[in-house]
Amino acid sequence: MTEMTLIPRSRTALPDVRINRHWIDGVWLDGDAQSDRISPSHRVVVSRSALGGEADDVAAITAARRAFDDGRWSRLPAKARAAVLLKVADLIEANVEPMALIETLESGKPITQARGEVAGAADLWRYAAALARTIEGDSFNGLGPDMLATVLKEPIGVVSIITPWNFPFWILSQKLPFALAAGCTCVVKPSEMTPSTTAMLGEILIEAGLPAGVVNIVLGHGQPVGAMMTAHRDVDMVTFTGSTAVGKLISRTASDTLKKVALELGGKNPQVIFPDADLDSAADAVVFGTYFNVGQCCNAGSRIILHEDIAEAFTAKVVELSAHVTFGDPMDPATQVGAIVTPDHGAKIDACVQAARAAGARVVLGGGPLTVPGLGAQFYRPTIVTGVTPDMAIARDEVFGPVLSVLTFRTLDEAVALCNDADYGLSAGVWSENIHTCLAFARQVQAGTVWTNTWMDGFPEVTFGGMKQSGQGREIGRNGLEEFLEIKSVVMRIGRTRGNWVRQPG
Ligand code: NDP
Repeated sequence: MTEMTLIPRSRTALPDVRINRHWIDGVWLDGDAQSDRISPSHRVVVSRSALGGEADDVAAITAARRAFDDGRWSRLPAKARAAVLLKVADLIEANVEPMALIETLESGKPITQARGEVAGAADLWRYAAALARTIEGDSFNGLGPDMLATVLKEPIGVVSIITPWNFPFWILSQKLPFALAAGCTCVVKPSEMTPSTTAMLGEILIEAGLPAGVVNIVLGHGQPVGAMMTAHRDVDMVTFTGSTAVGKLISRTASDTLKKVALELGGKNPQVIFPDADLDSAADAVVFGTYFNVGQCCNAGSRIILHEDIAEAFTAKVVELSAHVTFGDPMDPATQVGAIVTPDHGAKIDACVQAARAAGARVVLGGGPLTVPGLGAQFYRPTIVTGVTPDMAIARDEVFGPVLSVLTFRTLDEAVALCNDADYGLSAGVWSENIHTCLAFARQVQAGTVWTNTWMDGFPEVTFGGMKQSGQGREIGRNGLEEFLEIKSVVMRIGRTRGNWVRQPG
């Protein structure tokens, strides 16, 4: 049996280097410095982007503040805001190909996946447009004949949006259209490794007629750009996706001005597989959950918890299926798994695997970097680690690579305990043909999303987010809109039936 299926470098021509600038108050601006993004797969410069500093941040935050306060967007009728968002969705769809191409070259993800993510993101914009027109509050008509109260929902204000490199355009689209639907104005900072689709969105927002200053894009590093977006007093809310460590830092910094913070962080997501499950479908989903986006995915199904009776046969099946997954040139439509985002990240993945080996686990498949013919060595082998015990780092820490840890259980209670014995609580899955088993699991497991007999299905309607150290707040769905809304109670006296508080003399 061959260990894996490799796709060598294809003949597809690469595009010219893309130049990205800051977009502040409706104006494209060069930075004082630039950084080049070298494609993880092809090792060539794909984009050259401005590197922002504090002055760019202050200009962007000031523009967003002014745009919010003068009501050019926040006080538009929701119908008008929705019309712009719908136009953005159409323009994203019209630009799927160039956006997917640059996303592939900057991130290393396969072109077919990038196309799916960009096209799928258009649907998030459409859904947010629909939600914009449903913002509603409460009214209280039973407070007495002279009183009426309403509870209004208002946009929270200026929102800082900080996004990572693993799903650059998708994650941006989980946040920005919902903030805009609510009536907020925004400052956006993409990862400096994958800035291009965010900058391309700036071009789309102009074409769609978004007023200047409503969205501002500052390119650059977490320090200083992201840090100031978190600290500045004119920012009302920060929404962040990335590592738990930076999420905690953001939460600490934002607390100085008591900003609202929404965090979508890491995961160590378990799939529990019972002997009565459809084991073929489960094995396919485990392989998908492990290798999708080279495992650089907060929702990666990076640990499976197998019933002892099926552990050996099921593991063998996953190993066998892994051999058919196509790893290689992200530009080839036949490729399912592409490159690792940076050499440093590749080294971190390998260190996790080697540490597991040293701790006594068995690497039964892969375990090491991979060289793809015609491309570099910034790839990692499909890797399966068995004999993992709950105390090992590989069972507890986010590896963020194509690495699966295998643990075993005997009873439902034991499986749930293993799942919940984690700092994270992003997602979890259960595989069984018995609805009682699935429901019992779903109710006991600590996770923001529970999949039963499937893995990683998502819809704009279905909210997403984590428990415990996987984050706080929710994205997409109705709750995703609510995150960007502030609540105000308006209490009205509509008659003069009650006497004054001050007793007048005489
Ligand atoms: P980070 O959390 O460092 O980066 C995510 C974003 O935050 C980037 O835009 C980054 O900027 C920015 N950032 C960094 N420092 C600060 C700061 N002090 N204030 C504000 N923003 C900041 O993730 P990494 O890229 O370093 O990845 C490390 C690990 O994080 C991965 O191995 C993985 O475990 C996890 N991760 C989880 C993700 C998820 O989807 N939940 C996504 C990405 C990573 P820049 O990098 O441009 O400097």
